[in-house]
This record gives sequence, structure tokens and C-alpha cells, in this order.
Amino acid sequence: MSTIGQVIKCKAAVAWERGKPLCIEDVDVAPPKVHEVRIKIIATGVCHTDWEYLYETEKGMKFRPFPLVLGHEAAGVVESVGPEVTKFSPGDKVIPLFLPQCGECKRCQCPKTNHCRKNWENTQMGVLADGTSRISCKRQQVFQFLGVSSFSEYTVVPDTSLAKIRSDAPLDKVCLLGCGVSTGYGAAVNTAKVEKDSLCAVFGLGAVGLAAVMGCQVAGAKRIIGVDINPDKFEKAKAFGATECVNPRDHSKSIQEVLVAMTDGGVDYALECVGSPDVMSAALESTADAWGTCVIAGWTETEEMKVKVLKILMGRTLKGTYFGGEPKMRSINKLVDDYMNKKLKLDEFVSYSLPLDQINVAFGLLKSGKSIRTVINL
Ligand code: NAD
Ligand code: ZN
Ligand code: ZN
Repeated sequence: MSTIGQVIKCKAAVAWERGKPLCIEDVDVAPPKVHEVRIKIIATGVCHTDWEYLYETEKGMKFRPFPLVLGHEAAGVVESVGPEVTKFSPGDKVIPLFLPQCGECKRCQCPKTNHCRKNWENTQMGVLADGTSRISCKRQQVFQFLGVSSFSEYTVVPDTSLAKIRSDAPLDKVCLLGCGVSTGYGAAVNTAKVEKDSLCAVFGLGAVGLAAVMGCQVAGAKRIIGVDINPDKFEKAKAFGATECVNPRDHSKSIQEVLVAMTDGGVDYALECVGSPDVMSAALESTADAWGTCVIAGWTETEEMKVKVLKILMGRTLKGTYFGGEPKMRSINKLVDDYMNKKLKLDEFVSYSLPLDQINVAFGLLKSGKSIRTVINL
């Protein structure tokens, strides 16, 4: 029986309040409205940012309304489309984008950024263009995380926040391009613009950091120093291209002093993939004073990082990256092709595959450092 135009009843992991584990609930997913697409989510990664919004809201993260369906690193199949949708049809394989690409606004016209602001205030506050969400539970509106909400069997997203991908792509792997891998890889390749034979340091060797290591390697870096306080991450980092790894806890000096000594003056590129203001300062100070570039990929919304003026004055550059710095509706298919042509690793990021009802286990595996990514199969 066709579900087109009908409310779909399905399972979702609902965050009823911040700081509490997710609950598997029966939810109603309304049909898509104008310029919206309803997707059946097939697979979703569990990203550190999901954890941060659940457990750090109003600490490191700004206020977000609850109840909320988290999840933003996903792949699925179009179930139905709303009025005026021209680029998607039922059956298309797609990756939802937590950062839209309307193609029309001032920012979409500017090649320097991927920061489209279409529906920005709404999606940040968990609703779509008309100010409401399409997901409800127990007759209550459930907010949509970054306008996506992939911890649900079905969701509805704006047609400007969706990329159509090739039909032979395995969704349980390419879902990782919906956030972590695209972010870390893009941080190195697009934002830092790592050069051949350069010296790089990557702080934090989770999915974002490993993808940054991979980006540095593809760019031809000569040395890629992985930095993590969890030495269990080192073996994998070396498989991704790290030439050496350092645990800051093994040294009495600060990590920036250790890296400056190791590289005779500092690295050319430092990529922060932790989300800690102290690590951000350390990453900046580990770069070569006359030309080093530090890119921040780690996420925090309310905290401040300390920057000694002299560290910038001498010629360093400090940058940030959001979703890897490139408009994904255009670039994600290149990454999918690279994966299909074995030029980009994705399988190696997947530590566990679990069903939706194990979502809290997946958060535990991420926080304990036992997983790089757990992929939830819906
Ligand atoms: P993760 O938890 O898998 O990895 C973080 C790694 O940092 C872990 O290996 C941990 O051991 C390590 N770490 C913790 N403290 C450290 C320290 N003091 N020094 C060195 N290493 C340390 O997380 P992830 O999913 O890879 O995400 C990393 C960060 O990137 C998070 O802050 C996340 O919110 C952010 N993020 C940003 C974007 C973006 O668009 N900029 C997108 C996705 C994720
Ligand atoms: Zn735009
Ligand atoms: Zn993410």
C-alpha cells in the first residue's frame, strides 16, 4: 500500500530531555510540504556532535528545544516528495545535509564559503521552513535536529538540504559522508589546503581526525603526526596515513612544545578535531610561527579559546571549517565516486553496526573511545 500523502508511523529514538538516554518510540512522520522530501533512512552514523547536543546543551552547546530526534550523518531512499520538488523522485538514493545549499543566496553565490543560510534559524531551532517539525510523538511536536533527524526510520528534509547520489552506493558506508568523514577530509583538503611535502599534526583521532589524516595523506603531506590522549587510536591512525603518533600524557612539556621540538619549529598545518578550547590553543601554537595554519573542526558553541596575539602577529593563520568547507550537494558525489573507486576509505571507520534500539550503546562506545563510528541500520 502506498504511503504517499499519508502519515507514516515508525520507530525513532527520541531525546525527551537533555542529559538523558534516548527512548525508542513510535512516532508519526507527516507527509512532506512544499519543497520538502520524505526519506526512508537506511543507515546513520553516530557523531560526537549528536552526543554533545544531548549531553552538553547549555554547557558547551547553545540551547536547543526538546523533545528532539537527533542524528545527522545518514543515507536513505526518497519515499515521497512534496509540491514543487523537481530534483528528487521516489526511489532516489540520497544523503541529507545538515548545511543546506539553496544555490541562490549571497553565500551560495560566493565560492569562498559553503555556509548557505537558507532556513538557518529554523533548522537550528529544530523546525522546517514553516516553523513546525514533521515528526510527532504522543501528540507532541518533536524537534528535528539541524533539520535532519536521522535517528528515525523516516524523516522529512528541505529539498535544499539533500544530495542525490549514485544508485549503486552502499548506504551503510556512504552515510559517513553526511558529516564526519566529509568534515575531517575537507578540513585538510579544502580549508587548510594542505600542500605536498608539508608537515601536519592532527589533534583527536576519532572519525573527524582520521578523515583529516586521510586528507593530509591524499594531499601528499610528508609527515602526519597524530595526537590523542587515547593510545588505542594510534594503530588505526597509522593505517590511515599518520607517520607517527604522540600522546600528550606521555610528556611533561606541553604538546605544542613537543611538536615544535619534533618538527624543528612547528608544523605547517595543525587540524583540531577534538572540540576543546585548550586543544585549539595548543594546535595553533604547534604551527610554524611565520606561516603555520591551524584549522578548527572540533565543535563548541559557548566556550572561548585563548589566542596570544603574538602567536598570530608573526604570521600564523587561524581558520574554522563547517562540514569540510565545500558545498556538499556538488562535492559529495565526487567523494562517493572516490569511495567506489577505492580512493577514499570509509569501511575502515565503521567499528560497529547496530540496530536502532542499541543507540545508547552506540553513544557509550563513542564516549569510551571503543568505536570510531557505529553505524545504526534502520
Ligand atoms: P570522537 O569522540 O570520535 O573523537 C574525538 C577524539 O579526540 C577521541 O579520539 C579522543 O580520545 C580525542 N581527545 C579527547 N581529548 C583530547 C585531547 N586533550 N588531546 C588530544 N585528543 C583528545 O569525535 P568525532 O566524531 O571525531 O568529532 C570530533 C569533533 O568534531 C567533535 O567536537 C565534533 O562535535 C566535531 N565535529 C565538527 C564538525 C564540523 O562541521 N566542524 C562536524 C562533525 C563533528
Ligand atoms: Zn544558499
Ligand atoms: Zn556530525
